Amino acid sequence: PWSGFCPSNSIFYSKRKPVPLPSDPHLDVTTFLSSRRHSGTTALIDAASGRRVSFPTLWRSVSALASALSSRLSVRKGQVVLLLSPNSIHFPVVSLAVMSLGAVLTTTNPLNTPQEIAKQISDSDPILAFATRPFVGKLPRDRDFPIVLLEDCRISGDDGRIRYTIEELTAMEPDLRRRRELVSQDDTATLLYSSGTTGTSKGVVATHRNMISMVQMILNRLKLEEGGSALETFICTVPMFHIYGLAAFATGLLGAGSTVVILSRFELGEMIRSIGEYGATYLPLVPPILVAMLNQAAPLPLGRLRRVLSGGAPLGREVIEGFREKYPAVEILQSYGLTESTGMGASTDSAEESRRYGTAGLLSPNTEARIVDPDTGMSLPVNRTGELWIRGPFVMKGYFKNPEATSTMLDSKEGWLRTGDLCYIDEDGYLFVVDRLKELIKYKGYQVAPAELEALLLTHPAITDAAVIPFPDKEVGQYPMAYVVRKAGRHLSKTGVMEFVAKQVAPYKRIRKVAFVSAIPKNPSGKILRKDLIKLATSKL
Ligand code: AMP
Repeated sequence: PWSGFCPSNSIFYSKRKPVPLPSDPHLDVTTFLSSRRHSGTTALIDAASGRRVSFPTLWRSVSALASALSSRLSVRKGQVVLLLSPNSIHFPVVSLAVMSLGAVLTTTNPLNTPQEIAKQISDSDPILAFATRPFVGKLPRDRDFPIVLLEDCRISGDDGRIRYTIEELTAMEPDLRRRRELVSQDDTATLLYSSGTTGTSKGVVATHRNMISMVQMILNRLKLEEGGSALETFICTVPMFHIYGLAAFATGLLGAGSTVVILSRFELGEMIRSIGEYGATYLPLVPPILVAMLNQAAPLPLGRLRRVLSGGAPLGREVIEGFREKYPAVEILQSYGLTESTGMGASTDSAEESRRYGTAGLLSPNTEARIVDPDTGMSLPVNRTGELWIRGPFVMKGYFKNPEATSTMLDSKEGWLRTGDLCYIDEDGYLFVVDRLKELIKYKGYQVAPAELEALLLTHPAITDAAVIPFPDKEVGQYPMAYVVRKAGRHLSKTGVMEFVAKQVAPYKRIRKVAFVSAIPKNPSGKILRKDLIKLATSKL
């Protein structure tokens, strides 16, 4: 039962009532979502143009696209399809169609450079790419895959690799007699990229079971179970290429009949305009946006907005208190999760729960946790801080083609996921995230892998060694700071280091602070002592 800490096995059991999950072994997440009954009418709204997509139109488009992908582009179960796009009303359609075929959806941040995208492509090996016009040019020329353009029509000068537009494919009559491959809950649904606890970005293999359990848990959390009448209007400005946007909004909420208003990117004025114009009631965000809303001189007009969800990074107590004061009619909810746990882990489901300041909430339903001493490997009891391990139906299968990285993150015998977060769980079952043990830096909620920037710095002819650490910042959460050892006799300025990196990475990965040192502190096996550098960097704060 859901009862809290069990001293005999040192496991924390979720205090939330377990959520029943579908037992049919042959079920894909698209079928699971499309077969749900609800009273919703409008599924998606494009915030900028006001274009609306009803539920029947959405499901018809998904079915037509799946049929066309299978018959025209020979997409088969297990093959990877890349989606390179900012948030748009096409994003859910493509995701759902690809997954309905048992094909695997991989996404990437459109801000990434062509080199970063090429790296992910060579790892995931897609057979087809969907892209919006501004991003087609970022797709590598040496790869021979067809492209589907996410626009209504072609224009002269479009890339010759474009085989179809999304409009052409969704306008085709679905072939209802086509032979469908059987998709099981254990088949792979998505391949999102995350650096996990160490190293560079890796493909996170999430199954249909992972996605279905995540959807079911979110519906349960929002009290939007089947037949529920409390339909919401969501604003989706969090990125759909990330588990936060993809899981919760492109798929999760569609199952409840709610409306998702889609913003292609975050811009405060446009977000506020859309909240008013579309009568939004629910707003999922990352902490830096809450900070921006708080920093406004006068309160912003939030219309019918009732709930704001904060996830992806820690939220400070002052922000919660300040936000409450400025926007008393809006509840703040928190959510904690990882790409590797399909976004699940813990959440607060009411303003009352959030008032336990600093908590990331109660463990998700159907979830078990251990708090493990990082030095001794011993499991710890209530109120003791250690690494959080979690177990549940949402835990990934592993990293794509990377058994070594999988075994450092996942205990395959017992199914525990090592989160790399330093946490404790109090006597009432609330989780508190204290610090991050893992290398990961989170800039405005985006992942930045230090190992990737360090490898890049080492290619500079005047650098002999480098280490990258998170530097705390009120507005963005953290930004990457580099400690650099210069080659003897070589001249290199701090701006020189920053510019060298900026030219080669997406803007959110840029190094924004540099310090020169004579050596990088390392342990006897050569591992960078990041905690020492973090202490050094922040000692003057
Ligand atoms: P990602 O895979 O990009 O979702 O990153 C997951 C990591 O983000 C977690 O392991 C945490 O370090 C951090 N994180 C996510 N949500 C929270 C939260 N509510 N509070 C603190 N850290 C969080």
